[in-house]
Amino acid sequence: MVHVRRFLQRWLSLVRSVVRLTGVLNETARGLYCPAGDFFIDPWEPVERAVITHAHADHARPGSAAYLCTPGTRELLQRRLGPDAILQTIEYGSLLRMGDVTVSFHPAGHVLGSAQIRVDGPGGVWVVAGDYKRAADPTCAPFEPVPCDTFVTESTFGLPIYRWDDTAVVMRDILSWWDANREAGRASVIFCYTLGKAQRLLAELATLTGRAVHVHGMMLGMIDGYREAGVTLPEVKPVIDRTGRSPRTSMAGELVLAPLSARGTPWMRRLGTLSDAFASGLMRVRGVRRQRAYDRGFVISDHADWPALLQTITETGASRVLATHGHAEPLARHLRTQGLESGIIRTAWEGEPSGD
Ligand SMILES: [Zn+2]
Ligand SMILES: [Zn+2]
Repeated sequence: MVHVRRFLQRWLSLVRSVVRLTGVLNETARGLYCPAGDFFIDPWEPVERAVITHAHADHARPGSAAYLCTPGTRELLQRRLGPDAILQTIEYGSLLRMGDVTVSFHPAGHVLGSAQIRVDGPGGVWVVAGDYKRAADPTCAPFEPVPCDTFVTESTFGLPIYRWDDTAVVMRDILSWWDANREAGRASVIFCYTLGKAQRLLAELATLTGRAVHVHGMMLGMIDGYREAGVTLPEVKPVIDRTGRSPRTSMAGELVLAPLSARGTPWMRRLGTLSDAFASGLMRVRGVRRQRAYDRGFVISDHADWPALLQTITETGASRVLATHGHAEPLARHLRTQGLESGIIRTAWEGEPSGD
């Protein structure tokens, strides 16, 4: 009962907090809605027409009647939503008339198929960036700044403490950690997100070493999706293959990528003595590293860090910026001190950011 009441209270406060943004897009209890085009962007409830920035679970929820996304996102989303889901695709840069607005998708550099959504209507040009990053990623198209009047930015890492090192430096750290574990006869396990981070690590590692990487079986589906979308990834070996057998007797010296949900499960016993790590922007914070008790934290993120958020906002030329996800309030406050009109957009998603 307490649960139900708390849930209802949360929804009530959400509904009460609906802000009429009097523009191309409005904040509603189901997500961002475009009345002139009659569609939602990344709705968290089932709707008639969902326009989707990317395939992560906090942006693409099941149950909508129809989805519009890029071909890359479709490759991944169809696997998640099942064969019956209706997914229409649109290429980056092509214009689509929807009601009284024109919609186009532009690369966000976050994961395969990720897109910013540009909506051009009577209220001006809006760009909803979804999740994005500015660091190079061999597995997806690079972010393109899109000029607009109102920019809806993510703010997952919207605090000045979040600054990423060069990816090449982090990858060399990962390789030397793996080497040290090999010498000590231990397996190396990197926990990371199944969609995006795993494929990026695989592609980056392939430029440094020819050694095969092992993966948890749960990672195979999305890796297949990337390959089918035309992304080149090195060969991977499942720790337990599709028939349920372990092809190797010992995992000493091997590197394994695994989803966070595998940590502490009986599956881990197959790996023998091991050292574990988490690859995430969250690892920038020492308290989080200590609390999660990983042997190592590798700071590598598929989201923009603080300097990249500010740089991107400047590059769009937007006069109004709305922040959403994570540290929205501190980012909006900072932008106001810089003379920009800025506010936040609430999200019903209160879990951990996916693909961080
Ligand atoms: Zn994401
Ligand atoms: Zn997200």
